[in-house]
Parts: sequence; C-alpha cells; structure tokens
Amino acid sequence: LFVKVPLSEGATVTPDTAQTHYLLHVLRMVEGAEVLVFNGVDGEWRARLGHASKKLVTLTAVEQTRPQPDPSPLLFCFAPLKVGRLDYLVQKAVEMGAGTIQPVMTQHTQGAAPRRDKMQANAVEAAEQCGVLAVPAIEDAVKLDALLDGWDASRRLVFCDEDAPGDGPLAALQALGPSPVALLVGPEGGFSDAERQRLRALPFVTAIPLGPRILRADTAAVAALALVQATLGD
Ligand code: SAM
Repeated sequence: LFVKVPLSEGATVTPDTAQTHYLLHVLRMVEGAEVLVFNGVDGEWRARLGHASKKLVTLTAVEQTRPQPDPSPLLFCFAPLKVGRLDYLVQKAVEMGAGTIQPVMTQHTQGAAPRRDKMQANAVEAAEQCGVLAVPAIEDAVKLDALLDGWDASRRLVFCDEDAPGDGPLAALQALGPSPVALLVGPEGGFSDAERQRLRALPFVTAIPLGPRILRADTAAVAALALVQATLGD
C-alpha cells in the first residue's frame, strides 16, 4: 500500500478513503491484521491495523521488511500515445524497471503533453502491484530537440529504430558497457526523417532494431525494456 507519510517504527499511517475501503471491504482486514506499506523513500514496512471503524482505520508501522533500494538508473523516454495506451505504457515501464519516465514530444506525436499527475498516479499503482519500492520519477514532457540539446553524454541513448542496420539488438546492447542507459521509443507515426537523421548522427546514440516487423509503440517499448534489462539491468 503506498502511503504519503514518513515510515519508522511506531509511525501512524492513516489510509485514504479508497485505501480504507480496500483494506476493510476487499481484504476484509480486522484489528491486528498486517499489511505491507511503502512511501517511496523509507523502504517497505509491515504495518498493523489498529482500531477499525466503518470509515476510519489507522495502521501502525511495526518493522521494516525491505530497505529502500537505489533508484533504477534506467531513463525511459517515449513519445506519448493516446491516453488509454499511455496508462499501459507507464505501467509497463514501472514493471520493467524504469527509474525515470520522460515523455518526449516529437514531430508526429499525436495529442497534447500527458498530464504528469495522472502518470504519477499510474506509476504508484503499478509500483504497488509489482512491488517496486523506488517509484519512478515522472518528468515534464520535453521536445525531442530540447532533450537532445541538453543531453548528458555520459549516458548512452538506445534509440529503437525500425530502420536500424545490423543483425539484432543484443550485440549493440552488450557493447554499451556500464554507463547509465536511456531508451527512446517513437510515436505511432514514427520519427520524422530529420529526427532520425539527427539521432543517428549523435555520438551517444545506439540505434537498435527490434526485429523485422513494425511494432506498435507500446509493444516496442516493452520489447526494448525487456532487452535492456536482460542485457544490462537487474
Ligand atoms: N515507422 C513506423 C511505421 O512505419 O508504421 C511507425 C512507428 S512505430 C509504430 C512506433 C515506434 O516503435 C518507432 O518509432 C520505433 O521507435 C519503435 N519500433 C517499432 N517497430 C520497431 C522495430 N522493428 N525495430 C525498432 N524499433 C521499432
């Protein structure tokens, strides 16, 4: 359960209305029952249910069960999709170990920049479901050119490019070495020729193919995240 209070031994946690409903009416928890809580900073804690009325419950943090891990160094950059699939994409990025989620506005991006608070809520929900304690940071959307202009060249940028030459992503990914990595997936309409040209010319960019088929952006994102984690991540 994600909570918004500092966690230490004896700390009191007051779940919000939706969480209270979940504890009392979905999990049917009674006084003395325990649940795992986290706040994204203090690790995971066992918390015990105190007095429970119909509307109000309090939990007391008892013991830390997992220390707070370091945030994942994996930066996931993607061109926003239509809202429904955006929720899906954020959820998969959390499940696949992204540490920072960066929406990127490209020439063919459809629609407005996604709402950061909505993406953050999706990220928290995904973290609760898959047991991620370091909830990924959600950055404000930036234009592709601004992202590349301000790029920290000590970080490699893996660019998912359906026209990338070469015989497959594994060799390219394994050659990346220990530097922190970012992943970039384009919009449903693809990158423009100018964007693709700029990306390919950048010294910190590694373009990788993801097979001979044209994948939907969210499919490409999951495939690429899985490859990056399998070759570089945890
Ligand atoms: N150019 C595509 C087309 O012709 O329909 C449109 C882009 S595709 C739907 C969305 C994004 O997924 C691309 O920008 C790219 O980043 C990634 N992608 C899709 N298929 C890929 C592949 N086979 N190899 C590498 N990246 C791929």
